[in-house]
Amino acid sequence: MHYSYSSLSTGAGVDQHNRCLGNRAWCVKDICGIVCVIMTWLLILFAEFVVCGLILLPNYDNNTVFSSVNMIIFQALAFLAFVSHLRTMLSDPGAVPRGNATKEMIEQMGYREGQMFYKCPKCCSIKPDRAHHCSVCQRCIRKMDHHCPWVNNCVGENNQKYFVLFTFYIASISVHTLFLVMTQFAECVKSDWRTCSPYSPPATIFLMLFLTFEGLMFGIFTIIMLATQLNAILNDQTGIEQLKKEEARWAKKSRLKSIQSVFGRFSLAWFSPFTEPSCRHKFNSHFYSV
Ligand SMILES: [Zn+2]
Ligand SMILES: [Zn+2]
Repeated sequence: MHYSYSSLSTGAGVDQHNRCLGNRAWCVKDICGIVCVIMTWLLILFAEFVVCGLILLPNYDNNTVFSSVNMIIFQALAFLAFVSHLRTMLSDPGAVPRGNATKEMIEQMGYREGQMFYKCPKCCSIKPDRAHHCSVCQRCIRKMDHHCPWVNNCVGENNQKYFVLFTFYIASISVHTLFLVMTQFAECVKSDWRTCSPYSPPATIFLMLFLTFEGLMFGIFTIIMLATQLNAILNDQTGIEQLKKEEARWAKKSRLKSIQSVFGRFSLAWFSPFTEPSCRHKFNSHFYSV
């Protein structure tokens, strides 16, 4: 028997738990996550400062085409990474309504006496298949993959696309930044450290070394994360399910269907953090199986 998830509202109005901006956005009030988010933004700003102020703008007159093309690529990647980050953070990852495991609701859903269903003891919700409770979000999250402090949110059924895009754009901007730092380094070695940058040679070396370190760290981390996410999507198995080595109780989707359930039908919108994946493909996972 199947019951529509959307019909399971508790009737107590809109739940304001983990909500902000006049209930329009999802916000997890976790101080560790908020610190990580601010650090992420500061690191992007630092890369902006060094790439623009030390590498691209001072070289604009000597090499206009190189500076302009790379400026466009860098700013586009930074913008897309920032928007993907915001959307991952501010989207409800797929939270199950709290406290819906009431007698009326259970009856309304058509459960008969003695029939089995899972109830979360922490948020008192009827757990849909493949949902897990997150102790940071204090909610059960449908198809929860993991809780990521860098985006201060769970990665789940509703925001996985934005998270994958975030790792993709950060990985791309890291590779691009490393290329620009190496080019500038070669330029400074070839000419003169006093003239290749508007800053003193020690400051230039420090800024470039720190940016190289940042690019390497973030690049390696996000490429591994991106590969893990794509592998989990292709195998229709979340990070938690892989970790717990859970036997698939759900009907495993084909690789194409599994990708479509996260990104929607293939189009350029796959790469846009502005478009929500079409709900049609996510339809099945909004149902409880009894
Ligand atoms: Zn729960
Ligand atoms: Zn969480």
